[in-house]
Amino acid sequence: MTATVSSSHPDATYSDATHPDATHPDATHPRTGLRHDWTVEEVEALFQLPFNDLIFQAQLAHREHFNPNQVQVSTLLSIKTGACPEDCKYCPQSGHYNTGLSKEKLMEVRKVLEEARAAKASGATRFCMGAAWKNPPEKDLPYIMEMVKGVKEMGLETCMTLGMLNADQASRLADAGLDYYNHNLDTSPEFYGNIITTRTFSDRLDTLQHVRDAGMNICSGGIVGLGETERDRAGMLVALANLPKHPESVPVNMLVRVAGTPLEDVDAVDGIEFVRTIAVAKIMMPASCVRLSAGRENMSDELQALAFLAGANSIFLGDKLLTTPNPKESRDRQLFDKLGINMDDSSALSSEEAAEEFARTCPLREQENDHYYDAMKVS
Ligand code: SF4
Repeated sequence: MTATVSSSHPDATYSDATHPDATHPDATHPRTGLRHDWTVEEVEALFQLPFNDLIFQAQLAHREHFNPNQVQVSTLLSIKTGACPEDCKYCPQSGHYNTGLSKEKLMEVRKVLEEARAAKASGATRFCMGAAWKNPPEKDLPYIMEMVKGVKEMGLETCMTLGMLNADQASRLADAGLDYYNHNLDTSPEFYGNIITTRTFSDRLDTLQHVRDAGMNICSGGIVGLGETERDRAGMLVALANLPKHPESVPVNMLVRVAGTPLEDVDAVDGIEFVRTIAVAKIMMPASCVRLSAGRENMSDELQALAFLAGANSIFLGDKLLTTPNPKESRDRQLFDKLGINMDDSSALSSEEAAEEFARTCPLREQENDHYYDAMKVS
C-alpha cells in the first residue's frame, strides 16, 4: 500500500484508496485535520516513495502551513555541562563515557542573560537553554526560573531542556514563562533500550505529558544515525505524530559521532536517507516546525538546501550546539542569501533596548551561584 496524500490538502484529506482505514473516526482530526493514527507500515511506505514524489508531497504539506522561504532561528546555550548520570550512547555529556569534556557548574543567571541578548542581536527569536541533568535539582530551580523570566522579558521565546520533569516542576516552569520544553524521544520504542538504559521510553512520554498538561509547547524529535533501521525511524515518527497533539517543534538530528562515546564508530548516515526522514516528518506533522538540528556542521550547502526543500524550517544559529560544533553564523547567512531564505529578525533589540533590559536585573541575576555539584551524585 502506498500512502499518498491528496494534493489539494496534504493532511486534511487522504484518498480512500490509500488511507489504511478511511472509515476510522480518527482518520482525520475533526478540527485540525491533523492525523494521530499513523501506523508504522504506512510510514514505511512513505519512506519507500520515489525521492522526488516524497519531496513534492512534503513541500505541499509544508506550504499549507508555512511560508516556504522562512526559517525560524533559535540559539542553544549549554547552561550546565557534562557529568550527566544518564547513559545516552551518543552523548559526550554522559558521565558514563570519557570524552574529555570538562564539567561546568550551572551558569550564572547574569551570564545566561548576556548570551540571550547576544543571540537576539544576531536575529534569534527563541533562546534554548540546556542542562545535562537527569532531572532538575530543586535547589537550582529558582535560578532556572529567573533565567526564563529574564530571557522572556527580552521579547525572546524561551525553551529549556533539563531532563525529566514531574508535574509540579512543569507547572512552575510554565508559570515562570517557559514557552517550549525540549525532550526528545530519540528513536523508536523498540530500539530505545539499545541506546539508553538509565530511563525508559515511557519515562519520556510521562514528561511530555506533564509539559502538555502545564500548557507549554513541546519540542521533541530524534536522532538519525544511531544504527537504527528505517523501521525504527518510522516508529519514532509514529510515536511523535500519534501523541495527543503534535509537538510544535520536531528536531531531526544527524548523529554527531563523538570520540569516547559508544557510537563513535557507527556508520555515517546517508544524506538522502536523512532528508527522507525530514520529508516524512513534515508529511506526518505538517503544522509543526521541523528543525534541522545537530549535524549541520558536517552537511554541505546542497544537503541543507535539500533538507529545507523537504520541509525543515528551523535551525540553531551559533557556532556550538551544547557541546558539539555548529556552522559559523556567517556561513548560515551566506546559505540563506543563496537560497532566498529570510530570517525573521523583526524582534531584534536595538542596543539601547538591550542595555535597558540588562539594567532591569534582580538580585538573583547578579548573584554568583557557585554551588557546583557532581550531577552523577544527584539521584
Ligand atoms: S540526558 Fe541529555 S545530557 Fe544526559 S546523557 Fe542523555 S543526552 Fe546527554
